[in-house]
Amino acid sequence: MSSTVRAAVCRSFGEPLAVEELTLAGPETGEVRVRLRAVAICHSDVSYADGEWGGELPAVFGHEAAGEIVEVGDGVGFEVGTSVVVTLIRSCGECHRCQNGAEVACSTQFALDGRSPLTDRDGASIVHGMRTAAFAEEVVVHASQIVPIDGDLPADSASLLACGVITGVGAVVNTAQVEPGSTVVVLGCGGVGLNVVQGAAIAKAASIVAVDMHAGKLELAARLGATHTHDLADGPIDDLVRSLTNDEMADYVFVATGAPSALATAGDIVGTMGAVVIVGMPATGVAGSFDPSTLAGNNQRILGSKMGTSVIARDIPDLMQRYHDGDLELDGLISRRFPLEQINDAMDEVRSGAALRNVIIFD
Ligand SMILES: [Zn+2]
Ligand SMILES: [Zn+2]
Repeated sequence: MSSTVRAAVCRSFGEPLAVEELTLAGPETGEVRVRLRAVAICHSDVSYADGEWGGELPAVFGHEAAGEIVEVGDGVGFEVGTSVVVTLIRSCGECHRCQNGAEVACSTQFALDGRSPLTDRDGASIVHGMRTAAFAEEVVVHASQIVPIDGDLPADSASLLACGVITGVGAVVNTAQVEPGSTVVVLGCGGVGLNVVQGAAIAKAASIVAVDMHAGKLELAARLGATHTHDLADGPIDDLVRSLTNDEMADYVFVATGAPSALATAGDIVGTMGAVVIVGMPATGVAGSFDPSTLAGNNQRILGSKMGTSVIARDIPDLMQRYHDGDLELDGLISRRFPLEQINDAMDEVRSGAALRNVIIFD
């Protein structure tokens, strides 16, 4: 059944989003319609809206959401009324990559890859941004993109599990598989970097060094498990890492910022047998460089991590349990809450680096 939804539409890169009424077509086979209660703004939404990664317009972005199933298509095993997290990870569970634990890289084509359920008042198709289009009161997504959550988990906190938290924690636990006792450096303590810090604490790293330029973010990093913090305004990080590791340098350096200079820093502070893990995404075309003879000679690795290589049906319930046990912070990662009408203010705060996670709340 189609519905009318208010949504924030990007009609021109770099311009404010326009809140409009759109028509959302109902779910088809294997799909669900979810009424959202909360959607967090991720830095990726800002990058898309600013045109850094290209793509077609007009589009609705937003991909870090939580809500309640209101309609299911044929063949869906979930029931109407179930509270869920909605993610952009769409997977078949059967292809080569899914079978190897890389659902984020699923190669199967889905019906929603070829059609958008959204149209505007003139009947024109609106791009289903990041497979989710969650800057809207309701979404239609494939059933593989949702995970049921406990009814007592607040929707705003739950929404963070859809991207920021799984991306950060998953980079540590799934992508890098950090061993207990490791020395971990986190470059950039935004919405994802702070969750890398939480992941490193979960992995029982011995030293967790948080690096940023905002004192408030470093304070939060310390609360979330960072053993050391370093403000870049005080100079380079090299000496601290050298003294912490007896000149061995870091086992793992997570680059959780799109700033190109962080790549060079990572290369300077990663040790023999160490790994640099790229979590932040710069604009398309930004290049980094490395010295291959140093990399080979020191047995180092460079790893890319998309969405924390997460398997959402496994990882999100695990993270919820950690939240309930008091081992994972969610509520404290939220900077502010906004109604949909103020989404451009919420986006501006994320763009400036002032906010960790701003969350749109639907009434
Ligand atoms: Zn995201
Ligand atoms: Zn697959």
